[in-house]
Amino acid sequence: MVETDVLVIGGGPAGVLSALTSAKNGKRVLLIDAKMYEEIGNKICGDALNLEPTTFLEEKLGIEKPHGDEVADLVERLIFKTSNAEFPLKGDGYVLNRHPYGQRLLKQAEEYGVEVRSKTKAVRAISENGIVKGAIVREKRKNEYEIRAKVTIDCSGRNFQIRRTLSEDEFPYLEKKMEKRDVAASYREIIRLKEDHPYHNEIYLMYHKEIPEPGYFWIFSKGEKRLNVGIGWFLDMEVERGMKDHFWEVLHYYYPPGTYEVEDKGGYTIPTRYPMTNAVANGFITAGDAAFHVNPLSAEGHGPALIAGYYAGKAASEAIDTNDISEKSLWQYNVDVMQHFGLSHTKVQLFTEALLKIKIAGLEFLLKRNIFTQEQFLNLHAGSKMGKFEMLKLAIKAFPRYIILFQMKRIANEAAAFEKLFAEYPKTPEQYLAWQKRFQSRMEQIRKR
Ligand SMILES: Cc1cc2nc3c(=O)[nH]c(=O)nc-3n(C[C@H](O)[C@H](O)[C@H](O)COP(=O)(O)OP(=O)(O)OC[C@H]3O[C@@H](n4cnc5c(N)ncnc54)[C@H](O)[C@@H]3O)c2cc1C
Repeated sequence: MVETDVLVIGGGPAGVLSALTSAKNGKRVLLIDAKMYEEIGNKICGDALNLEPTTFLEEKLGIEKPHGDEVADLVERLIFKTSNAEFPLKGDGYVLNRHPYGQRLLKQAEEYGVEVRSKTKAVRAISENGIVKGAIVREKRKNEYEIRAKVTIDCSGRNFQIRRTLSEDEFPYLEKKMEKRDVAASYREIIRLKEDHPYHNEIYLMYHKEIPEPGYFWIFSKGEKRLNVGIGWFLDMEVERGMKDHFWEVLHYYYPPGTYEVEDKGGYTIPTRYPMTNAVANGFITAGDAAFHVNPLSAEGHGPALIAGYYAGKAASEAIDTNDISEKSLWQYNVDVMQHFGLSHTKVQLFTEALLKIKIAGLEFLLKRNIFTQEQFLNLHAGSKMGKFEMLKLAIKAFPRYIILFQMKRIANEAAAFEKLFAEYPKTPEQYLAWQKRFQSRMEQIRKR
């Protein structure tokens, strides 16, 4: 048996930041990952990362932004594209080489004193009387053993290995399931072209008739002559052919066979939903993909995982400092995550639901007819109310497809309602159940398909 202050399961962005922050705050930290040490931080991914989380980490922890060989290309704009229309949004960030960036963060965590145990898999939680006390783990080809910790942070990604092994009876406020409609399947290749491409400094999300809506095909620049190209859609969508067939059909529309070589390929699933509204229990926190921290439309989860990891490490170490690792003591983590991106991701969920209803044809209509300016689109997305005169002007432009406008107006109203609800997010667990009921009934109304 091994004892520590903080046990972190998973060495992805959420886990490394949880560990680094806890260790920087003076705690004994053990981080385990099922992978070999050298492979930690490597992941099949689109590799896009917004600037905002990296600025946040620089300010909070003095972690340098991605640089050198960690950066494949810089991003200035995100472009939604259908076969007939383009809609650009300004957004600074990177297309990364995730592996060296992940390894740098891991080594920085070790410099603060984090002990890393690679090739070590968490099997299940240790829980006693409603308190998580660590995990049973297994080193590759060796026996299981116990790691006991004051706080256990589950950052095991889409497997959520600790949360899934906590019993409903002991931990009734923690969600247990991951539904098919909340998970996206995804496949991507990194390709090397014969000529340079026109996608530098832009990341493209492309809607094609071949892809089940609102799934998309992406093209991200990995630097000169290299692209990260991929495809994804929700698991509950009905498809006649396999994902790779769809992928190649779309890819070959842009780059026919023979014009590129494949450097790397693979697929995985991404939990793609609004965040868990409670992600703590006695002695327990969960962050990153394991807690649904991925943007529900773009499926970007790297940035939120880094941010949530920071808040998880902060909450864990502050709780240990007060000798109280109860749910109540860790609750500030929920408050921080809800404030930082909980509301904005919930609004994105509304947009995704609207997209499922108006379909890509509706989106195309909006973009092609220039019904929304970029500012109006962002305002709507952010839940700002529209004036009557503005609505009238939009109605004239949208004629005769008012249903689309109706859906957009609905997003604005719902976004404003969720904003109000999030402003009342409970500061302590006692009020949570009542709040959660209000949240859930509103969300389920919207998600009825
Ligand atoms: C194809 C694809 C494309 C994507 N594109 C983008 C993108 O362009 N931009 C973006 O921001 N996000 C993207 N994402 C999402 C992004 O990869 C994740 O949101 C992000 O990596 C989440 O970080 P995490 O730390 O929560 O989990 P992960 O990065 O998944 O890390 C989890 C870690 O836990 C370890 N682990 C798992 N189970 C156990 C266990 N039982 N015991 C011990 N260790 C365990 C794993 O080995 C892994 O190291 C994409 C995902 C996929 C699949």
